[in-house]
Amino acid sequence: MYNMYVSEMAADKKKLASRSLYNNIFKSLGLKFFALKKDACGICLRKIKENPTDESFLTMYQKHMDEKVKVRQVKEEAKKMASENPKICAAVFDLQQVIYTPKSHHSSIFYKRRLANYNFTIFDLQSQEDRCFLWHEGIARRGANEISTCIYKFLQEKDSDGTEEVILFCDGCVGQNKNSVLKVSKQSEIMVPSQLATLIQTARATGKKQYTVYEINPVDVIDWKRYTSHWFACVGRCT
Ligand SMILES: [Zn+2]
Repeated sequence: MYNMYVSEMAADKKKLASRSLYNNIFKSLGLKFFALKKDACGICLRKIKENPTDESFLTMYQKHMDEKVKVRQVKEEAKKMASENPKICAAVFDLQQVIYTPKSHHSSIFYKRRLANYNFTIFDLQSQEDRCFLWHEGIARRGANEISTCIYKFLQEKDSDGTEEVILFCDGCVGQNKNSVLKVSKQSEIMVPSQLATLIQTARATGKKQYTVYEINPVDVIDWKRYTSHWFACVGRCT
């Protein structure tokens, strides 16, 4: 922004303010830089970054925004149903941003290949309970089998609770938990993956329910692709 100002002043041959004066005036006007949401989808990111004005994009963007509103309404309805009937559960699930370990400011770590840790969360809209399923790339991948296994574990838990109906939303912006887990992981030095479980368990603000963390082991991951091939015939290209 300052660079743009410098080139504009130079082009107009006007006197230039120092960077610190520029910053002070910028702040005194109450202006801020908009930070991009990391979980924005491709269409929203294109709108924010490029702001295309061609008709085909605008039509697609409008449809996308209409769908967003509709999904929000459906989610609200599901939440209401769950609040009125204890046998109904409404939840959103999301795979969080990868956390690499070891995570430290020590310079010797900067050039090392680090281990990717995955955190899949399921947030109960009614009870506000948050479950985190944790594993790293040495344990399993982050494919359909792993995600399905986490959801299956959740469904088993709900089944034993007496829940009869589960409404699940795949959501990119659970928001709160994503932020607090990331904030904690940013502040702390994490040397081994097992530290993550403890960190996440205590990541939530005081007064709120703590996260329940499940550490996924290789034996937990079910080969759903093989299992479902016994039950469902393949209609298209199967690999
Ligand atoms: Zn979007």
